[in-house]
Amino acid sequence: MAGLTYDVIVVGGGPAGMMAAICAAQDGARVLLLEKNDALGKKLLLTGHGRCNITNTQALEQLREKYFEQGKFLNSAFRQWTPQRVQDVFQLWGVPNHEEENGRIFPDSQKSKTVLDALVTELENQGVDIRCHAAVQTIYRDKQYWKVVTEEEIFFATAVVLACGGKAFPQTGSTGDGYIWATKMGHTVQPLVPALAPILIRREKDAQTNEDEVFPMTGVTLSDVALTLMVEDRKVAQSRGDLLFTHQGFSGPVAMRLSRALPEPEKKVLYQTGKVKIIWNLLPNLRQEELQEKLLQAMNAGPNRPIRKIVKEVCALPERVVDFVMGEEARELPCHEVTKGMRQGIVRRLLQFECVVDEPANWENAYVTRGGINLKEIDPKTMASKCQSGIFFAGEVMDVDGDSGGFNLQHAWASGAIAGHSSSTLSKMPQTTIDAQNIR
Ligand SMILES: Cc1cc2nc3c(=O)[nH]c(=O)nc-3n(C[C@H](O)[C@H](O)[C@H](O)COP(=O)(O)OP(=O)(O)OC[C@H]3O[C@@H](n4cnc5c(N)ncnc54)[C@H](O)[C@@H]3O)c2cc1C
Repeated sequence: MAGLTYDVIVVGGGPAGMMAAICAAQDGARVLLLEKNDALGKKLLLTGHGRCNITNTQALEQLREKYFEQGKFLNSAFRQWTPQRVQDVFQLWGVPNHEEENGRIFPDSQKSKTVLDALVTELENQGVDIRCHAAVQTIYRDKQYWKVVTEEEIFFATAVVLACGGKAFPQTGSTGDGYIWATKMGHTVQPLVPALAPILIRREKDAQTNEDEVFPMTGVTLSDVALTLMVEDRKVAQSRGDLLFTHQGFSGPVAMRLSRALPEPEKKVLYQTGKVKIIWNLLPNLRQEELQEKLLQAMNAGPNRPIRKIVKEVCALPERVVDFVMGEEARELPCHEVTKGMRQGIVRRLLQFECVVDEPANWENAYVTRGGINLKEIDPKTMASKCQSGIFFAGEVMDVDGDSGGFNLQHAWASGAIAGHSSSTLSKMPQTTIDAQNIR
């Protein structure tokens, strides 16, 4: 048999793959880590704006909720690999870390490079063979081994951990290769959607004011805004938090969180026909009647004052947002000249303004992938494939996406560690117990 043979081959040198390789090697397995880039952890270096939000201190109950409908699957993984354990492990590897607001954990160095360096040192300490510039092309069963083929070489292993990430931020190497191999192995892939991504809004003129909507507010940040996603007039999701207006639409936590609920890119026609909409509420703590009442009172108390001053005082919003909600016709008027229709227009733009989503979010700007290998086909205790013996999954390639705040890396570490340990256990089993099925 030509080609090197290992107990475990890990495909993908991101956080999940590095963790898997370390854990398998700690158990005594001979491990090969294959990475298509010229270095490991390209995406890891970008995390947390270069500071790496390693994990989050949320307790298990709340932690699960950060993974939306997939939280239950992670129960067992997070019981074994709690955020505290992740913190302790990095501390042990020479990465002291600390908690910041909302439970987010960062390295004391404030540099993701410290985290990457610690992982690489540990990989070397554990004797993991690392091959960069090694893009895996195919993986298939060859008698009792899995055959992993790169452009240049062929490797054999008893177990393979697929940790090649999703499709988000493909410029870092994650281009969705794992989905192709897994599909050939008999897995199904849940629809893929760019998540934690900015939302792209259509440039339109407001029907009433004929002004360019939304975009004059580029660069403005608002705290505590509620966004509702409507698809074909059906409410699909809602999110609340800080909003940033960009030259393309909406960003900031509230928009990024909502992006995972957008229809998948393949459903282009929904976007083209204007069926995907966002409704904002800039003052979610105020009911419509309350706001009407407050505005009326303030207007009656100063009938000669400019309406824009009243709106600014009542709503406590930045100048450019006030300009936008006023609309051109009301903007310069004193209160006594403002009609009921104009006042209702102002309230509508504050509490219930509708924007059309122009197109699906870009993979290039998305932080994570929603969708992936169907979790029904993965054993949550071992991360082993239920379709193929000897195949394990770790990280974003699976149908798991978390909220922002360190939750995606928490999943990468936990699933990586479990896949690593389980794959090493399998490699110690007698070869006859491993089925030999050719899936090419
Ligand atoms: C800008 C940005 C900032 C982020 N910040 C945070 C943060 O602060 N905290 C947080 O929790 N999450 C953050 N995330 C999300 C987090 O980085 C990912 O969820 C995480 O990296 C997923 O880890 P992974 O190992 O599964 O996949 P990846 O990190 O994508 O790694 C997969 C690796 O596999 C390699 N690969 C792919 N195909 C092949 C192939 N055919 N052959 C060989 N190798 C291959 C890729 O090159 C890549 O190196 C951020 C994401 C982005 C884009």
